[in-house]
Amino acid sequence: MAGTLYIVATPLGNLEDMTFRAVRILKEADLIAAEDTRHSKKLLAHYGITTPTIACHEYNEIAKTHDLIQRLENGTSIALISDAGTPLISDPGYRLVSQAGEKGILIVPVPGCNAAITGLSASGLPTDAFVFLGFAPKKQGRLDSFLNDAAHHKATLIFYESPRRVIRLISSSITAFGDRQACLARELTKQYEEFVRGPLSSILSTLKARETIKGECVLLIKGADEQPVGLSTEQMEAMIMDGLNQNMRTGELAKKIAGLANCPKSRVYDMILALKNRS
Ligand code: SAM
Repeated sequence: MAGTLYIVATPLGNLEDMTFRAVRILKEADLIAAEDTRHSKKLLAHYGITTPTIACHEYNEIAKTHDLIQRLENGTSIALISDAGTPLISDPGYRLVSQAGEKGILIVPVPGCNAAITGLSASGLPTDAFVFLGFAPKKQGRLDSFLNDAAHHKATLIFYESPRRVIRLISSSITAFGDRQACLARELTKQYEEFVRGPLSSILSTLKARETIKGECVLLIKGADEQPVGLSTEQMEAMIMDGLNQNMRTGELAKKIAGLANCPKSRVYDMILALKNRS
């Protein structure tokens, strides 16, 4: 009989956030596939888990998946863990789980911590609908178009970001979305846990006033306003054509129409460029 693949969530930082079931499964499994075996040593030792470990990380995932699938098919039960939180959520394991599914191997999730949901629950932002966007692109051009694509979502937006890039993500978000309500959740479940809530511009000033920004960050941003935009796309296009015929400058035109339409300037800017290219 084939073994079972367990997807086991582990704490984000506070070791007490481990579930009883997660401890039992990690003790009972034949093998633990860990993102970083050295990192997980501390958690496993804390709970007296002596199950053998094997490394499965983003750099060996393709080769390791083949090996782990073979072991599962031969009857080994494997528990997959990552460095923190839920495996596969901005963490390795997608290939393993999708191939295990294709082979008909039993996959059992053992739920627990996740930084996106933990941050959302205390953010004070709407929780009825949310969009998890993971890590935003590093290159500025790709980041800008990624954010412009996300501007229409009415659901709360959730990003993971490194402390080194969080200021840039916030200022690029102001350009793409306007000055929306947001929350920066930092160091969740750890000693210096912090929530900075308010409009994006005030979070930006708070962070800029600091010498350094440390720790792990989740940025949550309120979705686009529910209220309908003040102008239809056709009306906006007609106004753009008018403005262009009057030789208005692109920036000036985008600002004017964005104000009337109650939408981000970047969206109007893109429409102007598209219309210019068309004509
Ligand atoms: N699998 C994890 C989960 O379920 O949340 C996410 C892993 S991803 C590689 C790491 C990112 O998650 C960090 O860069 C940060 O954005 C977020 N993160 C993880 N732990 C966190 C914490 N304690 N506080 C805030 N954000 C955290």
